[in-house]
Amino acid sequence: MTNIRYQALEKVKTNALKNGELKKEQKKISETFGQNVFNVSAMKEYLSENTFLDLLSAIKHGSKIDFKTSENVAKGMKKWAMDKGVTHFTHWFQPLTGSTAEKHDAFYKPSMNGDGQGVESLSGSELIQREPDASSFPSGGLRNTAEARGYTIWDPSSPAFVLETETGKTLYIPSVFVSWTGESLDTKTPLLKSDELLNNAATAVCRYFDSTVHHVVTTLGWEQEYFIVDESLYTARPDLVLTGRTLFGSASAKGQQLEDHYFASIPERVHAYIIDFEREALKLGIPVLTRHNEVAPGQYECAPMFEELNVSVDHNLLVMDLMERVAKRHGLRILLHEKPFAGINGSGKHNNWSMATDKGKNLLSPGSDPATNLQFLTFFINIIKAIHSYEELLRAGIATPGNDHRLGANEAPPAIISVFTGKQIEEILKKFKKSGLTKESKKAEHKMLDLNIPKIPSILVDATDRNRTSPFPFTGNKFEFRAVGSSANCAPALTILNTIVAHQLIEFKSAVDKLVSGGKKKREDAIVSVLQKYITESENIIFNGNNYSEEWEKEAKKRGLSNNKQTPEALKAFVSDKAIKLFEAHKIFSKREVHARYHILLENYIKVVEIEALMIGELSNTHIIPAGYDYVHKLGENYDNLKETGLTNHANSIKKQVDEICTRINSIKTDVEKMNVELAKAHKKHNAAETAQAIAQHVKPYFTTIRNHADDLEQMVDDHVWRLPKYRELLFVR
Ligand code: ADP
Ligand code: MG
Repeated sequence: MTNIRYQALEKVKTNALKNGELKKEQKKISETFGQNVFNVSAMKEYLSENTFLDLLSAIKHGSKIDFKTSENVAKGMKKWAMDKGVTHFTHWFQPLTGSTAEKHDAFYKPSMNGDGQGVESLSGSELIQREPDASSFPSGGLRNTAEARGYTIWDPSSPAFVLETETGKTLYIPSVFVSWTGESLDTKTPLLKSDELLNNAATAVCRYFDSTVHHVVTTLGWEQEYFIVDESLYTARPDLVLTGRTLFGSASAKGQQLEDHYFASIPERVHAYIIDFEREALKLGIPVLTRHNEVAPGQYECAPMFEELNVSVDHNLLVMDLMERVAKRHGLRILLHEKPFAGINGSGKHNNWSMATDKGKNLLSPGSDPATNLQFLTFFINIIKAIHSYEELLRAGIATPGNDHRLGANEAPPAIISVFTGKQIEEILKKFKKSGLTKESKKAEHKMLDLNIPKIPSILVDATDRNRTSPFPFTGNKFEFRAVGSSANCAPALTILNTIVAHQLIEFKSAVDKLVSGGKKKREDAIVSVLQKYITESENIIFNGNNYSEEWEKEAKKRGLSNNKQTPEALKAFVSDKAIKLFEAHKIFSKREVHARYHILLENYIKVVEIEALMIGELSNTHIIPAGYDYVHKLGENYDNLKETGLTNHANSIKKQVDEICTRINSIKTDVEKMNVELAKAHKKHNAAETAQAIAQHVKPYFTTIRNHADDLEQMVDDHVWRLPKYRELLFVR
């Protein structure tokens, strides 16, 4: 019988045919975009004018919806959904598991008079509130089985939508999730709080410059990187199935050395899947408009047009879910893990983040002459100051076991948080620090690039170059938080970013107002002098060089910047007195909530790494060592034959080969045993923090040693006995 790997390779051909099932509909995006969303045009059609206006005001200005309005919205929403053939509805929320949760209920309610009839309905209270069992989700001790009550509550600011699967349609109502005591049990509640905080703080500062501004919104445009592998190959890799990454695998002779995958033509099979997935996403109003091959073989990226932050976060979660569903229809699997393959690029999720006023002005747009643009400089410098004050907390916000493979290893970006400003802005800041605002607007110098080939048009070049190594670069009119993990929900990282920037803007405003009201300075002078002080205090966080270099690590240490490579260490900043003070001051989290989250994150780290350890042990015993012995057995037969025919030299060379293989097998066996001993020891520690630390320090190192022996074996044994699909197959066969 052929082994499982060969069987899997055989099946790739059949999987590839699944492409053919894709409907070749070629509708314009504008015809289908948002057709499954309860958006403004659906609201207008299905709600009375008063209800529509009340709901719109709740969405735009955060006004509360009264009971009567909610009854009317529920009626209209149900009618809209039923016209689309929807039978069920669900609150859709984001518990602290890292993914989303849903529980479907039918619209249908049997009548109570025993006539066997019934009606479809959705009441106002069903729309607003549901009650899942809070004790069955991670609560970090906030809820236990004896006090299980929790509520999901409708978030009107993220539109309801209809999710179509092959067999049914369901109305999804985005919601927050809190306990009976009002403590948050999800990622959306604190995100919304931090967003409100930032919008208010930014509005107040904006009004220094434009008194007609009433509102500021935060904007987010994420870029989702991921890998695609064939489903049969995926299934034959238990490590991918259970941990999302390959725990073994010798490097493919060809990896990404030739740099021939990035932006290359998209393979047809992948293209078919992407089109299919994008159609679903576009119907849900998710503006996924960009697709391309990423750097590593088998790696791709999907990016939408930016949106209001809360909606954009929801859309990212929905996209990750859609990708996985649609890929299966094509016999493919999506890998969202930060580091599915050793030795080639991992995946991130760049969070492009900015703020805009209700007048549509992007607060991080420098304009044609940033040196004279005090409003831009105000927001820019305050953000730098915020990052400088809370760099370690920001690092904590992206700490997960998966992301440790990027941030803690020799991979982009590093665990040190710094800001890239670009040369031009760096110069402007230097000048501003010394002599304040440049009054005279310089005529913007637009550099032209002319290639001296008449046929090719000349182009305008950007003011700054790009820096792909920075975890937090300024990219022209927004910051790009590049260090967020590809599988992460963006909300925890952005909750921290919003909070520290809001806090900084509040401090700034109070410092400026104090100078002005004390009669010491005119407002503009006060703004300038406070900003000058901020630059001096925080310029240490600016780094425009190569973030991957060893010199930067040394330099950052001198500058006093943190470099927490592993999650257990990085998370400590989340429960520091400084962080708790910040969160409590702005009512984002109570101390209890912070500790609960910390506990959940530690537990998650312990469990994830433990699952990997168990998988390494199991695969060693059931796949890798047996493959080694199979080959030893074969070699033994050859040895006997050669000996019999008197070819002693050749026989001896085979003996040497057997010895080398057996050495690897024995090393794997002993290292697996030692790893298990360390795992058991780690569990005997006093608390989760110590267990996590012990796992990081004493268990994880065995992952590398065991893997190295196994990967050597893979290179030594006959291809026919190797059971796990190889890197070259996972990355290149489709
Ligand atoms: P890259 O070259 O890094 O791939 P792009 O310049 O194409 O990046 O833009 C990446 C993302 O930035 C897109 O999702 C885009 O919508 C988003 N973006 C652009 N402007 C803003 C903004 N003002 N706020 C938030 N995101 C933005
Ligand atoms: Mg980017």
